[in-house]
Amino acid sequence: MRKSYLPVALLLVVSVGVTGAFMKYYMQQPVATTQVPTKLLAAAVEKPVFKYGLNLSEFKVLKHVVKQNEIFADMLMQYNVAYQTIDFLAHESKSIFNLNKMKAGNNYTVLCQKTDNGLVPKKLVYEEDKVNYVVFNLDDSLYTYRGQNKVERKHQEVSGVINSSLYETLESNNMSPALAVRLSEIFAWTVDFYKIQQGDKFKVVYDEDFVNGESVGIGEISSAVFNSSGKDFYAFYYAKDAAHEGDYYDENGNSMKKEFLKAPVKFSRISSHYSLNRFHPVTKEWKAHLGTDYAAPFGTPIMATADGIVEDACFKVYNGNYVKIRHNGQYKTQYLHMSKIGKGIHSGTRVKQGEIIGYVGATGLATGPHVCYRFWKDGQQVDPLKQKLTFSDPMPAKYKTDFMAKIKSVKQRMDAIVYQAPKPKVEKPVEDVADNYDSKYSLLKRDF
Ligand SMILES: [Zn+2]
Repeated sequence: MRKSYLPVALLLVVSVGVTGAFMKYYMQQPVATTQVPTKLLAAAVEKPVFKYGLNLSEFKVLKHVVKQNEIFADMLMQYNVAYQTIDFLAHESKSIFNLNKMKAGNNYTVLCQKTDNGLVPKKLVYEEDKVNYVVFNLDDSLYTYRGQNKVERKHQEVSGVINSSLYETLESNNMSPALAVRLSEIFAWTVDFYKIQQGDKFKVVYDEDFVNGESVGIGEISSAVFNSSGKDFYAFYYAKDAAHEGDYYDENGNSMKKEFLKAPVKFSRISSHYSLNRFHPVTKEWKAHLGTDYAAPFGTPIMATADGIVEDACFKVYNGNYVKIRHNGQYKTQYLHMSKIGKGIHSGTRVKQGEIIGYVGATGLATGPHVCYRFWKDGQQVDPLKQKLTFSDPMPAKYKTDFMAKIKSVKQRMDAIVYQAPKPKVEKPVEDVADNYDSKYSLLKRDF
C-alpha cells in the first residue's frame, strides 16, 4: 500500500461509484503533453493482431516488462488509474491471481483506448509465462480472469553442423537451445560434450510447442543421431508400452545409459554413511561426511564404478592416496585412503567400469582400512545411495524384436535428413522499445 498516493488520488477522482462488483472510474482531466515520460518503455504495435482472445486492433497496445520492485499499483498508476480502482481490482483479483507473484522480467501489456483526451487504459494483461496470462479488466466493470494461449505442437526434424558449441549452433540455426540440454543428457555416456569438435554433426526428431509462432518448449525427442569424430551415435526412444516411461537405446537395442557399480569394493560393509553431520572419529568434531565409507581389509582392490577418465591420482594430507574419475559431463567419483594407487593409473588414464584403480588402505585421515567413496553430481557431492540412478536395465529379449522392427523406418528416415550447413553468426539488432514509443498518443499527465 502506498498511502502517500491516497489523498492525491482522492483529489483526482471526480466521483467513485461502487455498485456490487462494478465500479466506475474517471480519469484526471487531460493536459496536453508533448513530453513522454522516458520511464514508460512502451512500444507501439502496428499490425492488428488477435492475442489474449482479444482483437488488439481495437486498442492502442503498449508493451511493458515488469521492472525490479515494480508492483501492480505502479503498472496502473503510470496510466493514471485512480488508486481506488487499483485497490478494488487488487482485492477483486485475489481469488484468481496472487499479485505478489508478478515477476520482474515478465511481460505485461496495457490496452488503451484512444480518446481526444489521450489514452485511457482498458485492460492490463500480465503474462505469467509464455502460455498463461491474466487479464485485468479496467473498462466499465472491474474484474480479472485467466487465459491460455493456444499451444501448437509441431513435429520437428532438424540437423546441424557444429562450428562452435552445440548451444550456439542450435541458436544460429533457429533451434531451441533447450535441445542442447536434452541431447547432452541422452548422449551423456557416448559423446563427451566437453570435447565436441568443429564439424561434429547431429540430427534430431522431436516435438516442439509453439505459441503465436514462438517456441515455448520442447516435447519428447523421439530419435537423434550424433556424429562425433566421424562416428554415428544413434539414440531411439522406446517404451515397452504406454503405461511405462521409455528410455533411449542405440540402434542395437543397448541402453544409452550406463549403470554405476553399487560399490567400489566387492566384499565390504558400509562403516559410515554420507551425512551432513557426523562425529569424526579422528578429529572428534561434528562435521559433514560427504562420502560413503566401505570398510575392507588392507589391499582389497578398489574398482572404478563406471567408465571414465582419471582426473587426479595422487597423495594429499587428508585424502591420502586417492583417485578421482570424471565419468561424463555430470558425474565424477573419488576414492580415498588407498594403500596404493593402481598400476598405470594417473591423470588422463582412461578407465573401464570394474577396472582396478587402487587398493584399500588407511592413508590420510583414517582410523582403519576403508575406502571413502565420494560421488559428485553437477559439481556437488551427493549421496550415491540416495541418487535416482535408476539406470535402465538391458532391454529384455521379448521387446527387442519389437524395438528393432520399430526403429527400422525411423532410422531410414533419419538417415535421409540432410545435414544443415553451419550458418555464419548474425548479430541480432537490439530493439530499443523506448524509441518505438509513439509520442502522438501522449498519456495524461500525472500531476502529483
Ligand atoms: Zn569417508
